[in-house]
Amino acid sequence: MNNGSTINHQSSIVNRLRLWSLKKSIWVFHVNTGACNNCDIEIVNLLTPKFDVERFGIKLVGSPRHADALLVTGGGTRQAAIRLREVYRQTAKPCVVFCMGACACGMGIFEKGYHMAGPIDSIIREVDPHAIIAYVPGCPPKPQAMIMGVVKVLAALEPKESYATERVGQAVVAGAG
Ligand code: SF4
Repeated sequence: MNNGSTINHQSSIVNRLRLWSLKKSIWVFHVNTGACNNCDIEIVNLLTPKFDVERFGIKLVGSPRHADALLVTGGGTRQAAIRLREVYRQTAKPCVVFCMGACACGMGIFEKGYHMAGPIDSIIREVDPHAIIAYVPGCPPKPQAMIMGVVKVLAALEPKESYATERVGQAVVAGAG
């Protein structure tokens, strides 16, 4: 028996199972990396009875260790970048990073700030060059755009034969704000 191919096959099954389960009920952890709070208010709005994202299985959790995805707001200050890297390391993989708002997508109006370490995708890729990152533009993005972004990314996460070599595209632009 070829042990190498058996291990690869088992790894492929595990990865397919992981992606399948990720799509069914995605648990998210919210990280503010220097946002003005407006994007954060819209994220909180998702949880209110009006939008009620829990009906889609999207649940806000209190620890990155329980999270399938990070909802990141803000452009990534030097102080926050250290925390963001550590939070990402603690998440279960695969972990989808949603850049929520213009600041998270590309630092926005803070781009030239002396205090910035961003953008968010660069900070995350220092930890994981193959991270799955989605962008939801807007200042702030509307809750509908955020929901659309999550839905589009989950739809793109079809299980592949090999997670290591056939990930979803690294960047997905998901709805305007
Ligand atoms: S994108 Fe706009 S609303 Fe969101 S944190 Fe930046 S400035 Fe604030």
